Amino acid sequence: MWFSWSQTLYGRLTLRYCLALGMVAVLILLGYWLERTKVHDERLSEYMFNLAARQRMLTQRVEVLLLRAMQAKADQQVGLLREHGVVLDQYTTAHEQLLHGPARDLGMTENSLVFVDSRNRGTKYDALAHEFISLARVSAEEIGKAGSLKSPVLELERLTRLGDDLLASHDMLVKELQDQGTVLQRRRDWLLAGISLSGLATLLASGLFLFRPMAASVAHSQASLEAMNIRLQEQATCDPLTGAYNRRYWAQVLPHEMARAGRQNTLLCLIMVDLDHFKHVNDTYGHPRGDQVLKELAKRLRKSVRATDTLFRLGGEEFAVLMPGTDLEQGGAVAEKLRVRVAAQPMAGDLEITASFGVSITRGQEPQEDFICRADEALYAAKTKGRNRVETA
Ligand code: GH3
Ligand code: MG
Ligand code: MG
Repeated sequence: MWFSWSQTLYGRLTLRYCLALGMVAVLILLGYWLERTKVHDERLSEYMFNLAARQRMLTQRVEVLLLRAMQAKADQQVGLLREHGVVLDQYTTAHEQLLHGPARDLGMTENSLVFVDSRNRGTKYDALAHEFISLARVSAEEIGKAGSLKSPVLELERLTRLGDDLLASHDMLVKELQDQGTVLQRRRDWLLAGISLSGLATLLASGLFLFRPMAASVAHSQASLEAMNIRLQEQATCDPLTGAYNRRYWAQVLPHEMARAGRQNTLLCLIMVDLDHFKHVNDTYGHPRGDQVLKELAKRLRKSVRATDTLFRLGGEEFAVLMPGTDLEQGGAVAEKLRVRVAAQPMAGDLEITASFGVSITRGQEPQEDFICRADEALYAAKTKGRNRVETA
């Protein structure tokens, strides 16, 4: 059931249509996701950048406060050491954030400079920072207890060296963040270009493989429907043997033409045509030959009347010509012309064929049977008067 539906034109086009729409939807979602990620990463970079700059400032402040505490008098020392403790706590918290938060989000791995010491001494940046923190803390405690350091030159030198390493690391961290941001940006730009191109390709494919065949098939269906309509119309109104209009169409046209003549106060003329001794033709030469005569007769009659006149085959070998705006005299003349043309040349080979004609007119203000009957009577008169004649009523 599903399979047979998907094989129909409607099914195929629906599936393709859904596929194209699905692809467009996926591309839109992908673009939206990319935009969101871009904004997120930009914020993250900015945050990391600020954090790294702040760490740099805090490292220097830890060293300065320790130095000042060592040189300060006892009453100022307590305050400076407390401030030192606060700054060191801030540094510690920010360090944890830096390593375990956004750095990982930005895709920095264990190989990243954030984690490895900048001078590549095999010391992890993290370990370096912790060493700096604990040394600063121990030194502060020592100053707090003893008022000074045991060996100030050595300890301060060590702390300063650690601080310098950290500062260098911060510089490289900032640079790495910028590089990382640039790489990510470039990657996203490529991805965005890819999505845009895919969108264009989808549109192109939809145009080529969906809308074009759809339009072609609609146009084709339309054309074949119109052709079929014309054929059906012809079949419904025309006689297949002679191409003249049939009795069904006659039944439609006659009342219409009579009504028009009545409305416009004009004359409508009818010529009834009947072949002479046609039974004899059939009996002698056979029905197919008779058919050929009928075809040729219809052709000659049609060629001899105006475009506004209509030829009908009312049945057998009886034809009628309906001529709007024609009086009896003109109608008689036309019938005479027809009679001459029928008899002038043999038909279906060498058959001498003649026909009799009966002509009547109407103003459209009578029953159609009366109008027909007068033409029939005139035709009958032509027959009785010897055939191959025109009689008017
Ligand atoms: P008349 O001069 O008095 O008209 O003599 P007729 O022999 O023509 O007589 P009638 O008009 O009554 O003859 C009708 C004949 O037309 C009968 C039949 O053999 C023939 N006929 C009717 N329809 C067809 C047709 O479709 N094809 C052929 N070949 N002959 C037909
Ligand atoms: Mg007849
Ligand atoms: Mg006849």
